[in-house]
Amino acid sequence: MEIHVARPAGTCYGVERALKLAREAAREARGAPVASLGELIHNPQAVDTLRLIGVDVVASLDDLPLASNDAKNTLIIRSHGVAPSVIEEAEARGANVVDATCPHVARVQEAAEKLAVDGFTVLIVGEPDHPEVFGISARAGENSHVVTGSADLPPIAELRDQRVGVVIQTTQTAEALAEVVDALRDQVVELRVVNTICSATSRRQQAAEELSRQVDVVVVVGGHNSGNTRRLYEISKEACPHSYHIETSAELEKSWFDGAEKVGITAGASTPEDQLQSVVARIRAIGIETYRDADAADAKHIKNRVNDSGKDATTDLGAAGLKADEW
Ligand code: SF4
Repeated sequence: MEIHVARPAGTCYGVERALKLAREAAREARGAPVASLGELIHNPQAVDTLRLIGVDVVASLDDLPLASNDAKNTLIIRSHGVAPSVIEEAEARGANVVDATCPHVARVQEAAEKLAVDGFTVLIVGEPDHPEVFGISARAGENSHVVTGSADLPPIAELRDQRVGVVIQTTQTAEALAEVVDALRDQVVELRVVNTICSATSRRQQAAEELSRQVDVVVVVGGHNSGNTRRLYEISKEACPHSYHIETSAELEKSWFDGAEKVGITAGASTPEDQLQSVVARIRAIGIETYRDADAADAKHIKNRVNDSGKDATTDLGAAGLKADEW
C-alpha cells in the first residue's frame, strides 16, 4: 500500500507561530498563570497538550486567574487577533499580553484601519461570526459592513456617493472577493480593493484535491471543530468517495483500507505535524498488517491444497516464496 501525504498539509505559519509563542510564554511564566483567550487553535489534542505545559484557556477577560503579588498572569491572543480594546483592557488589568495575531491577519486589520482613516466606507468580505472578522471590524470604523457576498451588500443607493474600500478575511476565496468587487465596479465614487487573502488555506485545498484524485482512500486529519479541516474533507470526499475525517490515529479503522493500493493523507491548517505523522505511522502499520493477513490467507490456501494432495506443506510454501513463520 502506497502512502502519499499532500503538501502542503498541516499547520500554517500563523498557527505554528502561535504555538511557539504559547510554549515560550509557559516557559517564561515560571508557574504564574498563562491562558489563551479562546482555544489557541481548533485542535482539541493540541489544546490538551498546551494545558499540560500550563497554558489554560479562558473564554473572557473576567475568567483570567488572579496572579500573585510578584508574578503577572499572561494572556495569549490567538492567531485570529482581537479588537485593540481587548488588549488595552487586559493590560489595564495587569496582564502580560503575548500577541500571537498572525501577521497576515494583522495586515488585514491595518488595511481596514487605513481605509477608514482615509475616509473610505469599509466593506469586509467574511463570516460575520468569525473572531478574525470581529478584530478587523473593530479597526474598520463605525461605517464598516461585513458582507458574505454581493447578496448582502448595503443598497447601492446608500453607497453611490461614497468612497468604498474592500478587504477580505484571510481564509476567504478569490471568487468571493471578485463577486463583491464586480457588484461595486462603476457604482461608487471610488473603489479601493486590498486583497488580503492568505494563500495557506487555498494551497492546502488544492494539494488535497489533486492528491484525492489519484488515490483510493483519503484520510483528513484535524479537529472536528476546525472549519478549514472540514472543508478539506468536503473537497477530498468530492474527488475520492472513500474519504474519512479523523482527529487522531485511534479513530482509524482497518476496513477502510481493504483493497486500497494508494492512500492519501492531508491535514488542516491547525493540525500539528506530530499528529499527522502518528496517522501516517498507524496507516503504514495497517498496510503491513493487511499485507501479512493477505500472505497468511494465501499460505493457508496453499497449505490446504497441498494437504489435500498429501504433499508436505512446508516444501510447497517454500516454493511459493512464503516463509513458514508468516502463517
Ligand atoms: S491561515 Fe494564513 S492568516 Fe490564518 S493563521 Fe494561517 S497563515 Fe495566518
